[in-house]
Amino acid sequence: MQQQDYKFWQGGGEMGALIRAHDWSQTSLGSPDHWPVSLRTALGIVLNSRFPMFMYWGPDLICFYNDAYRPSLGVNGKHPTLLGQPGKVFWAEIWHILEPLINQVLSGGGATWSEDQLIPFYRNGAIEDIYWTFSYSPVINELGEPAGIIVACTETTEKVQTLSEITESKAELEFAIDSAEFGTWDMNPQTNKFIANDRLKEWFGLLPREEIDLTQALKSVVAYDRERVSRAIQAVMNPSSGGKYDIEYSLIDPHTQTERVVRAKGRTRFNEEGVAIRFNGTMQDITEEVIARRKIEDAEERARLALDAAEMGTFDLSLTTGSIITSPRFNAIFGEDGPTPHNRIISKLHPDDRYIRERAYAQALKTGSLYYAVRIVLKDGRTRWIEVEGKVYYDKLRSPVRLLGTVIDITKQRNAEEELTRVKFMADNASDVFMLICEEGSFAYLNQEAFKQWGYSEEEGLKLKVSDIDVLYISEIFHESFKLAQTQTLPPFETIHKRKNETVYPVEINMVGLVLSEKPYLFAVARDITERKKAREEQHKTNQRLEIALEAGRLGSYELELATGLMTCTPQCKANYGLDANATFNFADLMAAIQPDYRDTVKDKVEAAVANHSVYSAEYQVKWPNGSIHWVSASGKASYDENDKAILMVGVTIDITEQKLLQQQKDEFIGIASHELKTPVTSIKAYTQVLERILTQKGDTREASMISKMDAQLNRLNSLIGDLLDVTKINSGRLQFNYTTFDFNHLITEVVEDLQRTTEKHNLIEDLQPTGFIHADRERISQVLVNFITNAIKYSPHTKNIIINTHLNNDEVVVSVQDFGIGISKEKQQRVFEQFYRVSGETQHTFPGLGLGLYISSEIIKREGGRIWVESEEGQGSIFYFSLPVRKPVDHNN
Ligand code: ADP
Repeated sequence: MQQQDYKFWQGGGEMGALIRAHDWSQTSLGSPDHWPVSLRTALGIVLNSRFPMFMYWGPDLICFYNDAYRPSLGVNGKHPTLLGQPGKVFWAEIWHILEPLINQVLSGGGATWSEDQLIPFYRNGAIEDIYWTFSYSPVINELGEPAGIIVACTETTEKVQTLSEITESKAELEFAIDSAEFGTWDMNPQTNKFIANDRLKEWFGLLPREEIDLTQALKSVVAYDRERVSRAIQAVMNPSSGGKYDIEYSLIDPHTQTERVVRAKGRTRFNEEGVAIRFNGTMQDITEEVIARRKIEDAEERARLALDAAEMGTFDLSLTTGSIITSPRFNAIFGEDGPTPHNRIISKLHPDDRYIRERAYAQALKTGSLYYAVRIVLKDGRTRWIEVEGKVYYDKLRSPVRLLGTVIDITKQRNAEEELTRVKFMADNASDVFMLICEEGSFAYLNQEAFKQWGYSEEEGLKLKVSDIDVLYISEIFHESFKLAQTQTLPPFETIHKRKNETVYPVEINMVGLVLSEKPYLFAVARDITERKKAREEQHKTNQRLEIALEAGRLGSYELELATGLMTCTPQCKANYGLDANATFNFADLMAAIQPDYRDTVKDKVEAAVANHSVYSAEYQVKWPNGSIHWVSASGKASYDENDKAILMVGVTIDITEQKLLQQQKDEFIGIASHELKTPVTSIKAYTQVLERILTQKGDTREASMISKMDAQLNRLNSLIGDLLDVTKINSGRLQFNYTTFDFNHLITEVVEDLQRTTEKHNLIEDLQPTGFIHADRERISQVLVNFITNAIKYSPHTKNIIINTHLNNDEVVVSVQDFGIGISKEKQQRVFEQFYRVSGETQHTFPGLGLGLYISSEIIKREGGRIWVESEEGQGSIFYFSLPVRKPVDHNN
């Protein structure tokens, strides 16, 4: 019979075919022809089973398996090559696991059972971890002995893997729950008991092992939340609720009394009858979150309250569109009833302050924060100060998008602030005492000067009261002033302050009432007026003395307002013009009183003094209202404003009529005296000349020379008398001039030759340039020249040369007489032309003279329309000059 045809191994699919085709004769089982019935039966069962089966048979444990088993061997593995091989070969890599099982079964130990056992073996080209649930059962042969083993098995790799994945993810979940600090619970709605993780139990103050009763757990919920929580749980047990549970409530740990806020989120599962079978979920501790949230809410509320209290307006400006949202307070600040558009806000800014806002905005875009204070002008024209503060908000790309800010009206503060800054500045730098006085008379503030002036320490000083300082303090008056000062400005007053050392000093008090933080104060400044008082007293005394002096000297004083010609005069001043104290006396009245001859001179002198900032002085005759003529000497000086404009002329007047009369009397006396002297001197001179001639003839030369010296002295006496006469003539305006036209150089030569004869010591050098003719009094000009040359001789006793020069300068002829003698100091040069002036000094007495020559000379030259001057250097010599106009006949009627 063909091997294929055996009934016992018919069917069995692929494995059936492979087994049938296998050459079994090569195995320890030998040809199937000889196989025992037990083997044949067992193989038939295996091959035809749909359950995965494997079989070992015989002492070598030859391996068989069925189609159902086949997939477990994978591809590229044992199948089909190891079919019919001994177990040891077939399962070489796991024989150490299988052999004990096989031995157990074959030695009569009964069947084995292994569940989800890991049996890794070679398949799919590698050793794979394969899990099995299997049973090894013995197959008993005809002799009653176990001859083979049938393995019923199922691969559970997939199940195991799924399971392990589930376990893993469960562990992960737990880990997640744990690390997210979630509490978890799982409740059985039927029993109202639940299990929970340790954390949740801890929150509820329960022991770790406890299974929890809902009623017990609810005790840990704070009283005010308990009812709500319990109702929420009841509700979620109802299928119509959807089974979703989400609630926040507070727990109190019954042991530690710590409170925490939790959020519980859970789900109820229902069976088909709609009965709740499970209620589980997680719980989160949100205490911090809630606290933070409450803080924010609080902060928001506080900010809102603060804004309200601070009377702040708010705005939200879009930096992209320029649109603005403003709060009602904001609108009110800007004097608007409703929303204020951005352009209207800007238009209300004070024009001078717009740049401030622009600058602040530009800065805000850079720094993120906005601040500025500006003035706005409201519809009614009122100006208010506002302060704006804000913060820029940016989008994700850091572009500025919004500006949120506040606005506050700071007009009051601004004014007060400015005032305070000013006051503080003043106080810090003041040399006066600054006091801020409270209603009850104590000091709220004292500046440093107060402590300095009073001699108290700061601590002592601030404990004082006004009554401790003010010697003249009277309570009623203080309180009355305090009240009044709150509503009106009080005039300054003087009082006396007392120092710590009991010394007193006068002060002037300036005070003003003010309100600070709704409390009234008196702000007072005390100025030490000791000096002022002293000066005032001094002034008073001086004034008295001055008045006496003025009266005694009959000095009047006046103030002339230059612009209007209005004058303020002392009675004496008016008296000098023959007026009584009440008479009006202005510049026009003054001019009218002055005799016509002097008016122009007075006017010119006043104008010149004003222009030159110099002292004005003039003597003139005035006619009193009673017709009498008086002499007045007046002087004055102008004062100027900051633009150098002359405002006032202040000065004095004095009646000099008496002096003038005396002077006239003196002049008259000199005139008469010199006139009376002149005649006898002339006769003496005639006699001496006769006498000299007689003596010479007689040969008495010694006597003759004595007479000649007498004659020279007589000449000097004559010239002195001549000078005196000339002076009286000049002073009384009676100096006569006889005009002729003459050759100027001719006159010079004549005079020089005459004078050269009188001196041997000196050498008169003529340096004459052509000058031509002039029209003048030849005698008088000669007199001037004689005076110049005799002076040059007199004041150069140790030098020889005297140079007389003439030359033409434009249309005047100039004469100079130069000597190299003692010279005249600069400051005295101008005075030598004054009447009776003589340069005083040690050398003076050696040079006789009356000091009249140059005075007469200057009067003559002035009358001739010329100029006279001197150039000199002390110790070096002098050059005296005079000039006369060429051929210009002058008015000689004067
Ligand atoms: P006197 O009679 O004193 O010379 P003058 O009027 O001629 O009077 O001169 C006035 C004064 O001027 C003199 O006293 C003298 O001090 C001074 N003086 C005049 N001429 C000269 C000179 N050439 N050198 C120096 N001093 C002079």
